[in-house]
Amino acid sequence: MTLIKSGVPSRDELSTVIPPRQKLEKGPVVVVECFQEIPCNPCETACKQEAIRVPNINDLPIVDHELCNGCSLCISKCPGLAIFVIDETYSPNEALVKIPYEFLPLPEEGDIVTALDREGKVLGDARVLKVQDGKYQDRTAVISITVAKDFSMEVRNIKVRG
Ligand code: SF4
Ligand code: SF4
Repeated sequence: MTLIKSGVPSRDELSTVIPPRQKLEKGPVVVVECFQEIPCNPCETACKQEAIRVPNINDLPIVDHELCNGCSLCISKCPGLAIFVIDETYSPNEALVKIPYEFLPLPEEGDIVTALDREGKVLGDARVLKVQDGKYQDRTAVISITVAKDFSMEVRNIKVRG
């Protein structure tokens, strides 16, 4: 089932945006999960490395993962909350994942939160490493979490525990 029907990208759609394994093994890299052709390009203008191009305003973004340095500047600029940065080199067993987050309350650094997949299903625990407050970036906060490395391409949201 496609994104249009379900609200969740299909495995085929995701396979077109996952960075190459050799890039993932080097350090942080962007994953742009944007699959709807809408007039939008702040991801392109945010990227100083020119790693994201939107040739025409209705096109899907084209990502050159080799040019991406994982700076994360594009995450909070995406109105579709479709951009993530993954670092599978964080530790032997854990990946660091940066996600856009627009709910309140924000988590706090050091919190254990619930890691959710694209459909909102529970994956397990995540630890909050850093919270970049959204009030300086169009109200979209960027939350850095660590999760089991197996979940690096699955976790795309969190639930803050009361
Ligand atoms: S993480 Fe940084 S370098 Fe990579 S695409 Fe986003 S803005 Fe560009
Ligand atoms: S800013 Fe986000 S929604 Fe807009 S084109 Fe880029 S990735 Fe897609």
